[in-house]
Formats: sequence, structure tokens, C-alpha cells
Amino acid sequence: MTQTVTQARSLERLVRGQDTSDGAGVKLKRVLTHDLQQRLDPFLMLDAFSSDKPGDYIAGFPDHPHRGFETVTYMIAGRMRHRDSGGHEGLLENGGVQWMTAGRGLVHSEMPEQEEGVMEGFQLWLNLPSQRKMCDPWYRDIPSSEIPEAHWPGGLRVRVIAGFYAGVAGAISREQTEPLYLDVHFEGAHEAAALSHALPAHHNALVYPYRGALEVCGATGSQSVPQAHMGVLRNEGDGLVLRAASGTRAIVIAGCPLKEPIAQYGPFVMNTREELMHAVEDFRAGKFV
Ligand code: MN
Repeated sequence: MTQTVTQARSLERLVRGQDTSDGAGVKLKRVLTHDLQQRLDPFLMLDAFSSDKPGDYIAGFPDHPHRGFETVTYMIAGRMRHRDSGGHEGLLENGGVQWMTAGRGLVHSEMPEQEEGVMEGFQLWLNLPSQRKMCDPWYRDIPSSEIPEAHWPGGLRVRVIAGFYAGVAGAISREQTEPLYLDVHFEGAHEAAALSHALPAHHNALVYPYRGALEVCGATGSQSVPQAHMGVLRNEGDGLVLRAASGTRAIVIAGCPLKEPIAQYGPFVMNTREELMHAVEDFRAGKFV
């Protein structure tokens, strides 16, 4: 369905993710960890959060800095308020996305605006090319109603957060990293539905089913990705084919690697250790916006 893929990627490995906490004590699953940054270049981190226990999320992420990359927060369920030192403020709600380019630096907070109920979503860190790391900070809230969708009756609903899918342009595009970010809802009435998507072999790609399990239909056979696991796809062939039973939902993320050195110190991601030291100095000197 949708695009012709003659040799589909197979599954390279499964990653379960690490249970951890961040911010002021928000419980989350770190799916893309530091050791996978080269493998999944240009992506630096992927956190999945999902809880109906307020104690797991209520403390939020008080003021903290970032420099050198972009943060993409996709809220499946819940309400989170964003404020930053550039004077931006926004409420991220069910199905909405916040795309923030930290560039040369800003300080922001991400705080829950709910005291009960489910908080579920993802935060992805997308690297910036070296010549863009010190760009002006930028920020956009994309409410759920403004996220483009492709529908295939009796089979698929594809929310296109970034990149292109079946001729539908996503809410965001980026030149060098060419990120693809899809939220795929499998809605086949009877049998499993399939998503086919052409993708250059050198783009790194991952899938993460957050409802149900997913089949990666590679050229040499089908492999299963269980719920709440990340599947890293091999760099081969001309695209990907995914199949799942009705009710399954998965995010699909891919991008063109930058192939530049990655130097990280907490919320700063630059190319060299010297640039990291400058980031710390500038932050301490109050130079972030
Ligand atoms: Mn942050």
C-alpha cells in the first residue's frame, strides 16, 4: 500500500530501553541512549513517558538549559506547559507537538498542567549540523489539529509530524537531517494492515510500537517488535514495510546522518570538548538569551 518497496529493511536489533528519571523526578523510559547516538545519528535521545500515577510526572522539568540541537516533544495524552527564556510560552496537549530549536542556547521549563490522569508521549532530540549549532533559538507549538494526516480507508491513519509520507508534507522539515517522524495507527478492520515507505538506505531508522506489537517485514522474512521496544532497522534496500493488527500504534523515525563528532555534556550537545566548555561558561555567565 502507498509506496513501492522492492527490498524492505529487516530488523537489526531490539532495544528495551532503560527505566530512569529526569527533570525533577519524572519517570521515563530512555529508549535511545548515549551508546546508540552514532548508530542512530542524527538522533541523540528518545524518551518515552507513560503513566497514570501523578507521582511519576507531577514534578516536571523545571528551568534547565539546552544548546546545540533540537527537542521534539510529542504528547499522546496529557497537558504540559512550556516556558522559555526567549519569552515563548505554550500549552502542549493531546496529540500536539512542540518543536524547539535550542541553537546557541535557551533556558526552559516543561511542567505538567494536570494533577491526575494519564501523561503519555515522547521526547526526541535531533542534532543540528555543526554550522547551525549556534543559530537563533526557534520554537513552534503544533496543535493536534494542524498535524497533517494521510488516511487509507480500512487500513492506516498516518500522522506526519516531520518529513513526507505518500505525498503528504509533515508539519516540519529540515534540510540536512531530513527527519521523518510518523505516528502510524493501524486500523485494518479484519486482517493486518501494512505500511510501505521508501527510504534511502543510508538514512538511519527506528520504530517504536506504543500500542500492540509490530511486524518488520524485511526482504528475508518478518520479525516482531514487541510493545514498548525500539526496533533499529538495517541500512539496506529501498524502504520499509511494517505490518500490524488493528489497534496497533507505532512511531517511525528516520533521518540522514550528519557524520560529525558528537560531544555531549548533559543538556549541551556540540562537536568538540572546547565547545562544551564554552557552553558551560556561557550558561554560567547568563548568556543564554
Ligand atoms: Mn528540555
